[in-house]
Amino acid sequence: MAANNVTQAVYEQVLKRNPGESEFHQAVKEVLDCLGPALEKHPEYVEARILDRLVEPERQIIFRVPWQDDKGTFQVNRGMRVEFNSALGPYKGGIRFHPSVYLGIVKFLGFEQILKNSLTGLMMGGGKGGSDFDPKGKSDAEVMRFCQSFMTELCRHIGPDTDVPAGDIGVGGREIGFMFGQYKRIRNEFTGVLTGKGLDWGGSLVRTEATGYGLVYIMDEVLKDMGQSFDGKTVTVSGSGNVAIYAIEKVHQLGGKVVTASDSNGLVYDPDGIKLDTVKQLKEVERKRIKEYVTIHKNAKYTEGCTDVWGVKCDVALPCATQNELDEEAARKLVKNGCVAVGEGANMPCTPEAVEVFHENNILFMPGKAANAGGVAVSGLEMAQNSQRIGWTFEKTDSELKNIMVTIYNSTRQAAEEYGCKGNFVAGANIAGFTKVANAMLAQGLV
Ligand code: NDP
Repeated sequence: MAANNVTQAVYEQVLKRNPGESEFHQAVKEVLDCLGPALEKHPEYVEARILDRLVEPERQIIFRVPWQDDKGTFQVNRGMRVEFNSALGPYKGGIRFHPSVYLGIVKFLGFEQILKNSLTGLMMGGGKGGSDFDPKGKSDAEVMRFCQSFMTELCRHIGPDTDVPAGDIGVGGREIGFMFGQYKRIRNEFTGVLTGKGLDWGGSLVRTEATGYGLVYIMDEVLKDMGQSFDGKTVTVSGSGNVAIYAIEKVHQLGGKVVTASDSNGLVYDPDGIKLDTVKQLKEVERKRIKEYVTIHKNAKYTEGCTDVWGVKCDVALPCATQNELDEEAARKLVKNGCVAVGEGANMPCTPEAVEVFHENNILFMPGKAANAGGVAVSGLEMAQNSQRIGWTFEKTDSELKNIMVTIYNSTRQAAEEYGCKGNFVAGANIAGFTKVANAMLAQGLV
């Protein structure tokens, strides 16, 4: 069968088996659309039905999360963990707490995670979890009770050699701490079962910074290949969470100027450059909204709604908030304003139509599974440190992170060239990530 007939048949099966899961469909389609050249070169993948197996999670766990709020009212949320693929190691991927979470989002993220983890070169399979719980506006005690209830069920399914969750949207150091405490209490073991832990109890230096720093390291490689650098560049960033904050920090360290930050309510534009201390204080310490920024910095402007961020003139754009936040219209604005490169800090923030606009206009576009792999890479390093019962210095961990991001860039660029799609980093990342997983699946027999 011709490669495109194979991928089409797999995609149709995905639509049939997973109705209504539009984000999962989108993520699968993006990958399948790139794999034709790999299937032609490796007919053994087709014969072994590797693709059919890849799109079907090894295990999906859905569970009730009952908890009590501060008023004493009983609340019920839904929790889930999708253990997608373990060909390369224990399932690894974050947990997201956000009201929009449903199985389609967890599956899209878990599917992306398989190839992303493969690209890092570390031994990690792919998985993802989450809940429709909204931590916003909840007290610390409420968040703790929710996390404890969530982990009471999840702890049956995870373990340091089985499945090692981490944070994602709505899950930071506070939530990881509460979940780790509950795991330890129920299982009576102190193991590296979660990453993103506090530095005093098994966390890794650089994990907090890793995704944002890694994004900027890989985009720096992209710029270097164009004979350019971040120095003197104007950069737009969306979001003001973990990824956004440390992307801004690294761009500033490399001499660029980030002029935007946002949250789900609105956008701040600061022509003098975003003052990161203020953003950290507002978001990491006080858990306030980004609009408070303009009460402190009078030159900055706040706009309700966050889509306008892509209308701000920039050389490099780094979407770091959430999926599908940058559409075709936004992509056209970036092209019109002279943007030269886009790197996805978030998972799938650019719609397929936006990516097409970038490719048509020769904007260098680095997809999330390569660009934001720094977070899971340092999570993998945290697992390694936990196994050895040691902790590395900031410098050593940061330098490992940088090496991994450079390696991801090189393998992405080379795979694109080798498979006849030079400069297309979407194809390059998908093929480079996929071939490694496919070879491991072939070697491990029909499982
Ligand atoms: P955080 O929860 O720390 O921050 C998320 C940011 O995005 C917040 O500013 C949030 O605003 C904004 N946001 C969330 N949902 C929406 C929405 N629907 N519309 C507009 N803005 C929104 O999450 P992270 O920074 O950890 O994650 C951001 C992205 O990066 C996600 O796609 C995640 O999957 C991805 N990622 C994260 C990694 C990590 O290590 N943290 C690793 C790899 C990928 P508000 O506060 O208003 O909700």
